[in-house]
Amino acid sequence: MTLSDHGRARKQQFKRRLGILHATLLRRTLKKRFPAAFNTRWGRSQWIHASLFATIGALLATIIPGFSAQLEPSSQVRTILPLSLPPLTLQAPAAEGPHWEIVQIQPGQTLGGLFAQMGLSAQVMHQILESAANREALTRLRPGAELGFARGEDGSLLGFRFDRSPSQRVELSLAGGKIHEKVLERATTTRIAVASAEITHSLYAAGRKAGLSPASIAVMTDEIFKYDIDFKDVQPGDRFSAVVEETWREGERIGAGKILAATFTTNGKTYSGIRFEHNGKTEYYTADGRPLKKSFIRMPIPYARLSSKFGARHHPVLGKMRMHKGVDYAAGTGTPIMAAGDAKVQFVGQQRGYGNVVILDHGRGHTTLYAHMSRFGKIRPGQHVAQGTVIGYVGSTGLATGPHLHYEFRVNGQHRNPLSVTMPPPEPLKGAELAAFKAQAAPALARIESMEQLMYASAAGNGGKSGGKRG
Ligand SMILES: [Zn+2]
Repeated sequence: MTLSDHGRARKQQFKRRLGILHATLLRRTLKKRFPAAFNTRWGRSQWIHASLFATIGALLATIIPGFSAQLEPSSQVRTILPLSLPPLTLQAPAAEGPHWEIVQIQPGQTLGGLFAQMGLSAQVMHQILESAANREALTRLRPGAELGFARGEDGSLLGFRFDRSPSQRVELSLAGGKIHEKVLERATTTRIAVASAEITHSLYAAGRKAGLSPASIAVMTDEIFKYDIDFKDVQPGDRFSAVVEETWREGERIGAGKILAATFTTNGKTYSGIRFEHNGKTEYYTADGRPLKKSFIRMPIPYARLSSKFGARHHPVLGKMRMHKGVDYAAGTGTPIMAAGDAKVQFVGQQRGYGNVVILDHGRGHTTLYAHMSRFGKIRPGQHVAQGTVIGYVGSTGLATGPHLHYEFRVNGQHRNPLSVTMPPPEPLKGAELAAFKAQAAPALARIESMEQLMYASAAGNGGKSGGKRG
């Protein structure tokens, strides 16, 4: 036996040991999860299946960040994907098919640039772009998009492949100056997944680990729960769950995933948001059918400093005691100002002390006023604007010592303190719509509940943290 033979034998022995270790670990994990299956001895075929299962598990773990966490008991963040994955399409190399060279579009790269870089003639590219459908797809290429090139021995282009849409792949074969097009339908499937996580250091990190896309996390923080939860105050130990509708293609998630329902538990309180379409608008509602969106947002500019309160004060410009009929927010010139609620634009223009001013009519006797703007947003009187629409920008027009927003809130013509006025709640769903909503909400919330029970029930039992107080 030579030295290298000896080395090889040792390597093989090591591999065998590793295999045994792997099988033992696998058996232990499976036994813990599916004890019933271990009442009988496993036969060879069962082990093959288990091994296959483990391989698929490893595959999943690479596809979905966070899925692997499910197998790690020490981790706080877990995800369960309750439905089966779409079958992976294994592309066997075709016997006489072309060899595809896959190129990813780089930021700022054009198709022309790419063809030139690959030493392909612009003439061929123009020929490909003669088809309107191809032109449309190929001129909108995003960074990261994959193009396939098949070349002959002389380097000429024989085939060109691209994705026309998430579900259509186009293969062009170029032979003798003619283009033959083949469209391959790429099957997409929709899956409902439940993601749940307990925050350890950051909400974002926990969300990503649970398999949520950055866009889905943003929907949760900037849309669903923005009225009820101040995310600056979120603490380790707070948790959230989301039912997400995802589109998959060939084992790959495409798009962000729509959040159908979500719950967020912070400071001992659980908030829920359920997606529902009503009057052509998609909004999030509480479990009993009230819109989460408030009629008014408290501050028409985010993250601004309150520089002057409502009430009697010494006027900084006039130099005498005057009633301050609103509140002031100091912010830099040009900071966008948002409509505090859905409204009809009542006034856009100049008024003496107010400078550039906008008045919005929110119905039911409520109006808001925004003064000292440097310029207006794209709005005109009579127009309906949605809450959050940019109506203008901070400035110091009119009587103002520096750039700030002067904001007034009136109820039936009477000035009220915007910081303490009781805002009218938005209309809840009623009748048939409420029934339809509940039919949709119940199964989604049930999924979250069973998921949370699975994940946190034992923790609540030991630590006395009650999670079952929801109505
Ligand atoms: Zn003011």
